[in-house]
Amino acid sequence: MPEESRSGLAPLSRRSLLQRVAGVAGAATILCAPPSLATGAPKISQKAVAYQDHPDGNKRCDKCIQFQPPNACKIVDGTISPQGSCRIFAPIRQAVSPSSATPRLSNSACSRMVSRSS
Ligand code: SF4
Repeated sequence: MPEESRSGLAPLSRRSLLQRVAGVAGAATILCAPPSLATGAPKISQKAVAYQDHPDGNKRCDKCIQFQPPNACKIVDGTISPQGSCRIFAPIRQAVSPSSATPRLSNSACSRMVSRSS
């Protein structure tokens, strides 16, 4: 009786064994890679974005949405100074505080509106 029918499993050929080993090795490589490689997004060179280690007016890396403290960038390669800047600077959006979200009237303006309506 053949081996296959006794165990219920197909015999492992050399080819299928090598394919399985390669698959496991590939998965391990992906899982152990740094985040930028694991996501498949290589970083851009500093030269390509004209990175400089000083601010460009109000544009500073530590005010950019891509900055990763203490000295890295999500999309630009290499060491990034918090005081640096580049052509693809994207400002961090400021959270809107409840007091600034709703316009408020001064007491005198409010009193004038009440007096006009009555
Ligand atoms: S300005 Fe922003 S995108 Fe450019 S290097 Fe600095 S953190 Fe990265």
